[in-house]
Amino acid sequence: MLALFNAMRAANPGMHYEYIPKPDEWRNGRQIFFRACWCFSQSVEAFRHCRPVFSIDGTFLLVKYMGTLLIAIACDANNSLVPLAFAFVERENKDSWGWFLRLVRRHVVGPSREVCVISEHEAMFNSKHEAAVKLQNKGDLLPSKPNEHLNDAKGFAHTHEVRLFDISTGKYEVTKRGGTTSDGEVRPPRKYVVLLSNFSCTCGRPRQYHFPCSHYIAAARNRNFFLHEEHTPRVHCR
Ligand SMILES: [Zn+2]
Repeated sequence: MLALFNAMRAANPGMHYEYIPKPDEWRNGRQIFFRACWCFSQSVEAFRHCRPVFSIDGTFLLVKYMGTLLIAIACDANNSLVPLAFAFVERENKDSWGWFLRLVRRHVVGPSREVCVISEHEAMFNSKHEAAVKLQNKGDLLPSKPNEHLNDAKGFAHTHEVRLFDISTGKYEVTKRGGTTSDGEVRPPRKYVVLLSNFSCTCGRPRQYHFPCSHYIAAARNRNFFLHEEHTPRVHCR
């Protein structure tokens, strides 16, 4: 699939794609596919001249490939359809829609433009909006569950060993210590490569969940690097 995206990009300069394998899942030496999202620069340019409205929808795929195709579509001044972005995801749920819409915001809409999203998933956005308003009123940055995950990851980060590879890009090798689990399974130590500047780790979690893994936190601590709000998931406001 990566070869396909690279070929598409070679023929469509400016195309953007994100390809995400399943964290830590391999078969026959290859990491298993999880999600992918792509958009063409022509669509991004065209949407700048469209009304600030787009629709989103998903359709499940059948037979060989399964999964779900998500799409964001706008309308131009002639009422012709302008496809904005596409994604392959495992299924339609809050997490996959949230992931897709974050990428549409980042790569198609841009940070400051106010847009209206038309969706049959109205209930989902309404409940997210209500939750976001409640959190803001309380002055909290994160809902309780991500907060717990972050605290767990911070705790694990203290047990990792960190080695700096390249200071200019913030490239680190982080070793998770081996040990024996409570049911007697012996786990060898594992090494991960963290790139602070790219918010990535070879475990795959930061790119998939838009949330720092314990390896990333360990490397960030080594650098006295403050974990910016941008790198933690936020509840969507319309
Ligand atoms: Zn990691």
